[in-house]
Amino acid sequence: MLRRTADLPLRTKLIGSFGLVLVVLVTLTGTAYQTTTTNQRADDDVSHSLLVIGTAHETLTSLVDMETGYRGFLLTGRDEFLEPYHEGWRLTDENLTQLEALTQDNPSPSARWHELRTQVQDWRSSVTEPGIALRRDVDGGRRTQDEVEAMMASGLGRRRFDAMRQTIAEAIKAEEALLAARQQARAASHERLLFVLLVGTLVAIGMALLLATLLTTNIAGGVGRLAASARRLAAGDLDERASLTRKDEVGVAAQAFDTMAERLQTIIVRNDTILTTAAEGIIGLDKDARLTFANPAAVVAFGQPLDLLLGRGIAHRFEPDREREDGEPPPSVDPITQALATGTIEYGADAVLRRGDGSTMPVEYTCAPIRERREVIGAVVTFRDVTERRQAVQSLAERAQELARSNAELEQFAYVASHDLQEPLRAVVSYLQLLERRYRSELDERADRYIGHAVDGAHRMQRLINDLLAYSRAGRRNDERQPVDLEVLLDRILKSLEVSIEEAGATVTHDPLPTIEGDLVGLGQLLQNLVGNALKFRGDEPSQVHIAATHQNRAWTFSVRDNGIGIAPEYQERIFVLFQRLHGRGEYAGTGIGLAICKKIVEQHGGTLWVESTPGDGSTFRFTIPDPGGTS
Ligand code: ADP
Repeated sequence: MLRRTADLPLRTKLIGSFGLVLVVLVTLTGTAYQTTTTNQRADDDVSHSLLVIGTAHETLTSLVDMETGYRGFLLTGRDEFLEPYHEGWRLTDENLTQLEALTQDNPSPSARWHELRTQVQDWRSSVTEPGIALRRDVDGGRRTQDEVEAMMASGLGRRRFDAMRQTIAEAIKAEEALLAARQQARAASHERLLFVLLVGTLVAIGMALLLATLLTTNIAGGVGRLAASARRLAAGDLDERASLTRKDEVGVAAQAFDTMAERLQTIIVRNDTILTTAAEGIIGLDKDARLTFANPAAVVAFGQPLDLLLGRGIAHRFEPDREREDGEPPPSVDPITQALATGTIEYGADAVLRRGDGSTMPVEYTCAPIRERREVIGAVVTFRDVTERRQAVQSLAERAQELARSNAELEQFAYVASHDLQEPLRAVVSYLQLLERRYRSELDERADRYIGHAVDGAHRMQRLINDLLAYSRAGRRNDERQPVDLEVLLDRILKSLEVSIEEAGATVTHDPLPTIEGDLVGLGQLLQNLVGNALKFRGDEPSQVHIAATHQNRAWTFSVRDNGIGIAPEYQERIFVLFQRLHGRGEYAGTGIGLAICKKIVEQHGGTLWVESTPGDGSTFRFTIPDPGGTS
């Protein structure tokens, strides 16, 4: 029974219990009220009967008074005897009226009192009133005392009076019987009232006990168990579960508690796993920077057993790395102390961790404060060994330096080689030309052709060497940065290209161009090559060239668009390589150095150069130049 009630919702249980108590109380009150009313009525009935009996006795007395007075008057003829007679009549009349009123609802006694009234009236009209008149006539001398006595002796009066007495006696007897019945009823009613009160009290006590048991075992019991489980969980017993199977609110709360405990356990176990398996060192500190926790990686890094570390101040073990000269000067307050004081997350870069044996380990760390109600109560420091990274960065820097050096050497070599090659080549060309001039008539036609080829080859070689020289020079003005007004620069270039423009029947348009920081000669070469190519590689249509400039992501993007022959996708990378061309020398003049130089110049400005093109539909060469001072 208790088990089944445990499953009912608490609300139902409480409303049900109090509703039941209410119903019982209302029933009890109703019964008590009803019984009291009945009791009251029984009391009234008894009083009524007593009043009737009393009044009947009084009526008898007043009749006896009448009779005595009447008889006295008959014997003496003295009027004072008539006074009790009259008084007796008045009282009798009064009592009879009262009795008739008292018994009007009860036909049998009511009829009896009516009968008595008739008897009294009869007695008066046929006995006493004629008797009194007779006695008065004796005094007037009209009748004699003997006649009076004869009348008295006739016994009529006595018989009538006895009949009246008889009627009263019977009425009293009947009323007394009624009284006895009513008294009995009253006693029974009293008993019933007592019984109702007793039963009511017992039921109330029973209900109170039942409610108390229900509330304590059913509700307080469950809640108590839940509270105990919560206490055990809070104390660290993660396996604790309330395990209440009931289905009421307490059961639902217990289930929610169990789910919460389950989740908590999962989270804690997961966090534990993360902490213990993390490659980073993770330590907990109290507000005075004393160690409260350290994961295995941290213990290994410190190189000391955990027992020796716990409770020790450790902020001083994270030192700035004095060997790193390029870093910023170390802050006056170390990041851990700072984080604990200000409650902000602090970072320690360029730091070393002083290990237990006095050695140091390069580290990077983060100190995140822990707050409880706005108060900083400690911090978590996460640190990682950056030895390898530092080594990698250092070797990368060394490699870059090495590369720059070998590049410079290579450029120097190319320059020197191309420069020094020019001289012997010039000698070869001169002597070939001498040969040609001197022996033209002596040698046969074939020899002349051969010499012609040799001179051609030497000239080509000269051009190539010149290009190579130009290419290597393009890298030698690296540092000559100055503001370059591209608008002015382009105007100059277009002027120098006037003949080509006219030949191509070209229209060259451009957006407003900015002034940028760069190498004037290099940028001039870049624009000249791109615009020159746009004019050179034109199609059948009159050439249209447009130079545009947009600024975004802190860089300028320039484009040189033409409506020329275009470039097939597979060649769009190759054209930027030194001496790579897509056409024979007869088709379009050139050596294939222009775009290689352009690429070098753009890259030296920190940008990139690329082409977008559809064969037959023109090409757009784009390049970016970073603009660190720009706004967008
Ligand atoms: P060159 O102009 O001396 O041939 P470049 O390095 O300037 O050398 O160009 C390499 C090749 O790229 C060119 O031979 C040509 O095939 C292609 N090219 C360059 N610019 C254009 C252009 N605007 N339209 C079509 N092809 C182009």
